[in-house]
Amino acid sequence: MSEVRSYLKQHDLLVRPLYQDYNQRYWDLSLAGDNATLERALVGAKERYLQVYNNRQEFAQLRQWRKEAESLAPDEARQFKLVYDSFVPNQMEGDVLRDIVARETQIESVFNTFRADFEGGRASDNQLRDILRKETNPDRRKAAWESTKQIGSEVAPLLLDLVRIRNREASRLGYPNYYSMMFELQELDEKSVFSLFDSLESLSDAAFSKMKGGLDAKLKRRYGASERGSAPWLYADPFFQEYPAAGGGEALDEIFANQNIEALTKLHYDSIGLDIASLLQRADLYEREGKSQHAFCLDVDREGDVRVLCNVQKNERWMSTMLHEFGHAVYDRYNDPGVPFLLRTPAHILTTEAIAMLNGRMSKDPEWLVRIAGLSEAEARRISAGARAVLRSEMLIFLRWAITFVRFEREMYRDPEQDLNRLWWEYVERYQKVTPPRDRNLPDWGSKIHLAASPAYYQNYVLGELMASQVLQFIHENVSKRKSYVGNVEVGSFLTEKIFKPGSRYPWDEMLGHATAERLSPRHFIHQFIDTEP
Ligand SMILES: [Zn+2]
Repeated sequence: MSEVRSYLKQHDLLVRPLYQDYNQRYWDLSLAGDNATLERALVGAKERYLQVYNNRQEFAQLRQWRKEAESLAPDEARQFKLVYDSFVPNQMEGDVLRDIVARETQIESVFNTFRADFEGGRASDNQLRDILRKETNPDRRKAAWESTKQIGSEVAPLLLDLVRIRNREASRLGYPNYYSMMFELQELDEKSVFSLFDSLESLSDAAFSKMKGGLDAKLKRRYGASERGSAPWLYADPFFQEYPAAGGGEALDEIFANQNIEALTKLHYDSIGLDIASLLQRADLYEREGKSQHAFCLDVDREGDVRVLCNVQKNERWMSTMLHEFGHAVYDRYNDPGVPFLLRTPAHILTTEAIAMLNGRMSKDPEWLVRIAGLSEAEARRISAGARAVLRSEMLIFLRWAITFVRFEREMYRDPEQDLNRLWWEYVERYQKVTPPRDRNLPDWGSKIHLAASPAYYQNYVLGELMASQVLQFIHENVSKRKSYVGNVEVGSFLTEKIFKPGSRYPWDEMLGHATAERLSPRHFIHQFIDTEP
């Protein structure tokens, strides 16, 4: 027993500097952009970190300790489990591991460098997306959409090889396939997650059809498109995962055109009793040549060095993104220094996403618009029905898209040899109600980067939305006397005590059960977004 205990201490001391080093280099590269030296430094740091978990002898020792570890004190047993789980997916021969990394890198570089044929020249993904957002000529829209799918044929065979290798290694480790292995290692029960997806699908079906009917009619009028059904190039992105901006969100952008987004973010978190002043100082918030164009939050050392990267512009999307990223940041910042380093992380990807999403939704909340953005009651009333309708449509569209993607991914790992081109369009038609193009037999699924780059990950976005709604509902009913989220310092202390500080001392569903007196349920999300029509 004391052996296991001292192993955990040693492991803690070993990984701390490696973890911190990796994060620091990730941050440096994100700011510097195209820089071969920094890129090599990052790859080296990642390898050093992963090598820890690739050690076969050490894993054999952990296996022997497994039974014994169950009788450790709860926090120690929990650390042991999480360390053990980190070893599992890395237990393969060194050359297999290198082969997998090389294949992943190859696919990534296809995504980074591919240029599609379009109108006799070459077009980047951003250029094609821009056309889908703005072009009104339906023929040109169709051509642009088709071009966004060309990369699918490049990626699909590479991805399928990778899927076969991942499956082979997972089955060697005793799992039915790679997807099931990843669910188990993420402490997600595959059966209950998919039964949750079943109920989300049936509960959202009628609301989605109705909302989409209205949207389709609006878009067809706009583009002068006369065909029946709804072609995939009707929408503003290649997968119909977003609500088109032309759908009615313009009024929201006007609100933020003359606002200080950074100051509003601070005002928001101040109002719920969470101080982000020091986080803002460490953050890198504005566009610069060469800097990463995305947005993310990074907990560098789990000791308070939490950094946010954004590229803020004065519009609603960036307002929402800032609220989202600082949601991740307060989760990390308000951790409990008394909790062991190995447990001082969010309980799960889905729980930190939930806190980020919960705050990110606020930029469309009428009460928030008055109290934080300073709109008059009359202005807020004028905008609020539209804002709520936009948020609801976004949720419905994202949900149906995610159902399509998650179900497809699971099937792809269950049987990569089946007719995936057909299956993809079958799911798109069933869940997103988009009409498949006639006689199309191409690997359109291959053009979605998440399928290759973030395996068995997408379900966490949906679970995060469900948890966000559950936490909000609990706050309204039990935490905030005025039944509102914004402007209540009790909210910050509730989140800190019940969600942030426990870290990963408990599995995520247990933590959520403690915090909200209920395991994860779809009913709050359904109530907030689907049953209530603005
Ligand atoms: Zn996030």
